[in-house]
Parts: sequence; C-alpha cells; structure tokens
Amino acid sequence: MFDLIKIWKHQGRQYIPDVLSVTLPSIHAGKPQIEAKSCKNNCKACKDICPSKAIDINPVNLDLGKCVFCGECETLCPEKKIAFTPDYKICSNDQSLLMIYEGEQREIKLNPDKIRNEIKRLFGHSLKLRLVSAGSCNGCELELNACGNVNFDMGRYGIEFLASPRHCDGVVVTGPIVENSVEALRITIEAVPHPKIFILNGVCAVSGGIFAESNAVNRSILDIYKPDLLVPGCPPHPLTFISGVLALTGRSA
Ligand code: SF4
Ligand code: SF4
Repeated sequence: MFDLIKIWKHQGRQYIPDVLSVTLPSIHAGKPQIEAKSCKNNCKACKDICPSKAIDINPVNLDLGKCVFCGECETLCPEKKIAFTPDYKICSNDQSLLMIYEGEQREIKLNPDKIRNEIKRLFGHSLKLRLVSAGSCNGCELELNACGNVNFDMGRYGIEFLASPRHCDGVVVTGPIVENSVEALRITIEAVPHPKIFILNGVCAVSGGIFAESNAVNRSILDIYKPDLLVPGCPPHPLTFISGVLALTGRSA
C-alpha cells in the first residue's frame, strides 16, 4: 500500500488538463520563424542542405508540408534567420497556409471556408477514426498511439481510433502512400460510411516527404479523395494532431 502511494506521489498528475494551452519545452521543434534580415551574398546554405526541398530563397520561405524538422537549416544558416519555436499548432486544411515566409508573424490555422458544414455538425462531439499506414516508418503510429494515452487522452473529446472502418467516421493516413498500399487504402476509405473525414498525418502523407520522388510512391488516390486536414511533422507531436482535429471539428479556433 505504501509503495503504491509512493509511486503515485512520485508520478503526480500526468494528464494535460488543457491540450490547447500547453507550453512545450524549447527543445520541441514546432512552427518555424524566419527573420527578415539580409542573407550573406549568394548564400543558399538552407536550400542546399534541406533533404526534402522544403526551402526556397529570395525571399526565404519554408513549406511546412514538406519539412521533416531535421533542424539542419536552423543550424547552418550563418545569419541565424531560421528558428524553430515550440508552437505545436501547425495543422491546416489549406496547403498555402503551411507556407512560412521571412518576416511573417502568423499563427497557422485552418481555412474556415474549406471546412465542410457536416464536419462540425456531425463530428463535434464524437469522432472515430481508422488509421491506415501507407508505407509509414511507424514513427507516426507511435505518436498517434500516444494521443490516446493518459497524458494526452484525446478520448475525453470523443476522438478514438477503431479497428473496423465500418464503425468509423474517417480515415487517417500515414506514410507517403506506396503503390502496394493504394488498393488497401482505397478499400478502407470506401468502407467508411458517408460523410467521412480524411486526414493526412505526417510529412510523408502530406507531401511524400523525402520519398516524394520514389518510384514506389503512387499518390494518385489524392486526386479522388481530398484531405480535410494536413498534419505536418515527422512525426507530428500528439498535441499537433489533437489540436488540429479539435479545430477541424469546431472545438477550437
Ligand atoms: S528543418 Fe525542414 S526546412 Fe529545415 S532543412 Fe530540415 S527539412 Fe528542410
Ligand atoms: S512522417 Fe516521419 S515519422 Fe511519419 S511515417 Fe514519415 S518518416 Fe515516419
């Protein structure tokens, strides 16, 4: 009994009371900021080092939908223009809102005009999701699994992963969508009753990431099924996923 009390006291209260107002430690690489100061002559160190072609210059801009958050651009920039902040709210439903330009001070949000009416109406209290790994490394799955643990507890918002797509309201995809997964993904999406939500989780799913140009990747299914939510990160932090889904379903701005 005393041992149990000691463990309880040692661990303290683990759950996060409000997942929308947490301050993550500075070591977390979230939304980048690019300062509006001049680059050294002909410098393109950030563009050259970026493994996923997420950066362009003149002006310096960074595509969060392609960034794998390796931090190399921040380390190599001689002017220290690029800095990753701990801001984990980096989801959007609009690719253009994932572009960060130098000198820009903007929160990343969803485009309200692109949220279908039935999403807020039907999924604002309960949302059951089926996960499909379409060539993922399992990093995304680990973090999505953590979304339901005692710390993040997304079940308190009625958001859960289920096994059967027939009992779900939407599909979450991880991985760059490899050819061998396309048919399984299509069958799973079709098995979810209408209306349904479609989420791309992780840079691989959002843009193909570092695998975008691989012959094994076939993203043509995205011409048919349009995503309702893009979740950047490699892998996305549980708070990124949860805050994005809450915004999509009308439970936060
Ligand atoms: S942190 Fe992102 S933008 Fe910077 S080099 Fe890595 S992948 Fe490219
Ligand atoms: S986004 Fe990163 S963590 Fe997720 S599947 Fe791709 S490589 Fe793995």
